[in-house]
Amino acid sequence: MDAFHQNDPAGPGFWLSRAPDSLEPALRGDRRTDVAIVGGGFTGLWTAIQLLDADPELRVTILEMERVGFGASGRNGGFCDASLTHGLANGIAHFPSEIRELEAEGRRNLAELVAFVAAEGIACDLEQTGSMSVADQPHQVEELRASAALAQEYGVSTTFLDRAAVWEELHSPVFEAGLLAGPDQTVMLDPARLARGLKQAALRRGATIHERTRVTGLERRAGSVHILTDAGARLVAQHVVVATSAYSGWLGRLQRLFVPVYDYVLVSDPMTTEQLDSIGWRRRMGVSDSGNQFHYFRLTADNRILWGGYDAIYHSGNRVSPALDERPTTFERLEQHFVRAFPQLADLRFPWRWGGAIDTTSRFMVTIGQSMAGRLTYALGYTGLGVGAARWAGGVVRDMILDPTADRLQLEIVRSGPFPFPPEPARWLAVEAVRRELARADANEGRRGLLLRTLDAIGIGFDS
Ligand SMILES: Cc1cc2nc3c(=O)[nH]c(=O)nc-3n(C[C@H](O)[C@H](O)[C@H](O)COP(=O)(O)OP(=O)(O)OC[C@H]3O[C@@H](n4cnc5c(N)ncnc54)[C@H](O)[C@@H]3O)c2cc1C
Repeated sequence: MDAFHQNDPAGPGFWLSRAPDSLEPALRGDRRTDVAIVGGGFTGLWTAIQLLDADPELRVTILEMERVGFGASGRNGGFCDASLTHGLANGIAHFPSEIRELEAEGRRNLAELVAFVAAEGIACDLEQTGSMSVADQPHQVEELRASAALAQEYGVSTTFLDRAAVWEELHSPVFEAGLLAGPDQTVMLDPARLARGLKQAALRRGATIHERTRVTGLERRAGSVHILTDAGARLVAQHVVVATSAYSGWLGRLQRLFVPVYDYVLVSDPMTTEQLDSIGWRRRMGVSDSGNQFHYFRLTADNRILWGGYDAIYHSGNRVSPALDERPTTFERLEQHFVRAFPQLADLRFPWRWGGAIDTTSRFMVTIGQSMAGRLTYALGYTGLGVGAARWAGGVVRDMILDPTADRLQLEIVRSGPFPFPPEPARWLAVEAVRRELARADANEGRRGLLLRTLDAIGIGFDS
């Protein structure tokens, strides 16, 4: 059997292995900047770009511990969604009075992202395909119908597909219904190439980027923040932006906001024309199924299948480490589930397999805040839907630093934060209890037990 393509020092996975890049030098000695950004993922990169578009004279410096795109941004599914709230239903549950505005903001953000990629010539295989949710259990058919009705009520256009219509889109014996959303809701892209393209766009605007530069601590000094690195270098900044996502355990004040939850992905060999014909998929849209434990899947530009999701693994103490990027039991489970969905492709091999940590919050969407008397701004917590939303969050961070009277800073989503997670060991016990209950609900026709209903009632309901 051929060797699997696994963890490369540049970052694991199919996408990062084929995203062209050259390394920017690590930070050495003592330097000064106006805004320091810790973390070179989508949040950090979009923040840098939007700061420099607003004020080209600003000195903006990104510090990245590995390479740009090393984190979730370079290893995700590449579903770039308009939603800022992890879906319409979650947005309605948290912000009933501003959800229409948030939906419009999200659609505008996605359209601007697509236009930016075209204007900057970023070759990230962006395909305006839309997406499809599928039901593979009878009770999910009614859930999809209800989602279609809710979408219509809020002016979001979707199309419900019955069994025959979903088969026309994608040939699987287990799909009983589908719900299509258009390209104003979702586009598909190569996330590592987008990250590396944004890196070049930030450099062209005058940003300084230091890779292989791990930040170990921050010190508040009169009128500035001192940012300390593992190599003993120091950057003195007027403002610091923390954009370190699921890795944010290094900053004690963010610990209670999130849990890093590992999600895993497989990518197949390229399919032959016959293999692709056997499943249809002419419109090439991104697809996800509808359980609490769900799979997401898509085609790459060269017609491989990316198949990910289902298991969501938390390691106590908010642990993140390259050693956790591999999980053979999950990889095997994902392969078995794939064959159940597409038995006609039982021979398709999945040589690429990796994992990554998702910055999960109790409200399932980004949280943006400040501390150190306004000198520190953070944005994290997209809970697995940050490819599009990170651009929006970067704009909010820019406003907090350059335009504190901007209207959108008054939005409830910006002013409020998530219900905090308890410290260990209660944290691990709580996450495990919720995970067990979600699996039980999936096995029980979607019926939620007392724990989940109680969490729903107090506004920290986990639905996927
Ligand atoms: C397997 C997987 C699949 C996903 N699929 C999707 C999807 O299909 N669609 C979607 O919308 N979202 C998806 N997501 C989520 C999405 O990838 C994230 O929400 C988004 O990339 C977050 O970007 P970020 O910049 O905030 O974080 P990251 O990309 O994680 O960036 C944080 C960066 O900070 C750096 N860093 C951390 N600590 C330090 C430090 N101390 N000093 C310096 N640098 C540091 C890291 O190396 C990293 O590069 C997925 C995530 C995973 C893991």
